[in-house]
Amino acid sequence: MKRWLGRAERLVIASHNAGKVAEITALLAPHGIAVVDAAALGLPEPEETGDSFVANAELKSRAGAAHGAIVLADDSGLAVAALDGAPGIYSARWAGPTRDFAKAMALVAEKLAGKTDRRACFMCVLSLAWPDGHVQNYEGRVAGHLTWPPRGDKGFGYDPIFVPDGYDVTFGEMDPDEKHGISHRAVAFRALIADCLTTDDGGAGS
Ligand code: IMP
Repeated sequence: MKRWLGRAERLVIASHNAGKVAEITALLAPHGIAVVDAAALGLPEPEETGDSFVANAELKSRAGAAHGAIVLADDSGLAVAALDGAPGIYSARWAGPTRDFAKAMALVAEKLAGKTDRRACFMCVLSLAWPDGHVQNYEGRVAGHLTWPPRGDKGFGYDPIFVPDGYDVTFGEMDPDEKHGISHRAVAFRALIADCLTTDDGGAGS
């Protein structure tokens, strides 16, 4: 059975990434949900050992919820069609321990050499877990194609090589507010908000 998130509810974000926590806090603020980050509560960061975005997001949300809170976790990455979905769940790891995304993007370009199919998408799975083991997952994706060389310095990660469908600029060149309106994370969040925070008559959930 589906669950709502009450307005007075406190939600723990299972991320130790300050940028991600800030983005999620801003998205949930208009809905009256108080957000606390996992680092502030001293919750451990589990290893991402799953074999899919859903598995990894759920692994993180369940691990946090086991400590007694309602927990929101996300997992995201870039999936390239001609590379059978790689780097996918390994998107962060392709950048190595120093998180060198120039290197990660060059690796994508190298593996695509000689291939004509440039289709790719960014994927995001949000997982919401309750302390009693109940879980609700939401998926978002934005389709596009890859370009080389990288363009723009407004984004992060693989943004400079990704051109979303319907645009001729990369995510790295796009105004961040515009990106946040169409991104995989925005799509997943809209699904979560529609499902957990909005009543059937269109009003905010209580
Ligand atoms: P996560 O923190 O485990 O979800 O790792 C996600 C990784 O996927 C990031 O380190 C980025 O490399 C990549 N990624 C996810 N979302 C985006 C995005 O919006 N732009 C660029 N790269 C992204």
